Amino acid sequence: MTGMTDLAAFIRSLPKAELHVHLEGCVTPEQVIAIGRRNGVNLFESVDAARAAYDVSSLDDFLKIFAKASEVLLHADDFSEVASAYFDKAAADGVRHVELMLDPQAHTTRGVAVGTVLNGLMKARDHASRNGLSTLLILNFMRARGGRSAGTAGVPRYLQPAHCGARDRLG
Ligand SMILES: [Zn+2]
Repeated sequence: MTGMTDLAAFIRSLPKAELHVHLEGCVTPEQVIAIGRRNGVNLFESVDAARAAYDVSSLDDFLKIFAKASEVLLHADDFSEVASAYFDKAAADGVRHVELMLDPQAHTTRGVAVGTVLNGLMKARDHASRNGLSTLLILNFMRARGGRSAGTAGVPRYLQPAHCGARDRLG
């Protein structure tokens, strides 16, 4: 057991990079309840019920809960809270750099402006940076919705260096 503890401590101490994490997948069952209550979006009766819904056995079910949990995110502070909590957890596990993916259309199609999403994430990135964690955002667009949908999501005007690290990746 000591060997395993030593190994876990050793792994935690190694510098790591998280290169594939989706914002929408970072919403915890506890946040679904707390943020949902704050916003009047009550998807589950309790944290236990939310946890049970997260206990999936197929990719399809995983993607469904992933999309459902996102419904509680309405304000910049909601996005900031979810991303900051993830960044803190990653940093505690020895992660030094995170590339966080987000899907603007998953939010704009629910009536949440892309600026709301990005303003929240910029706040979370500032929080992470103060804790020594470097972060970048990668914006995903749903191919099936076409390029016009990405444009009408209002994203391009946010691709400013000060606003979004994803600029480098989108050219
Ligand atoms: Zn992915």
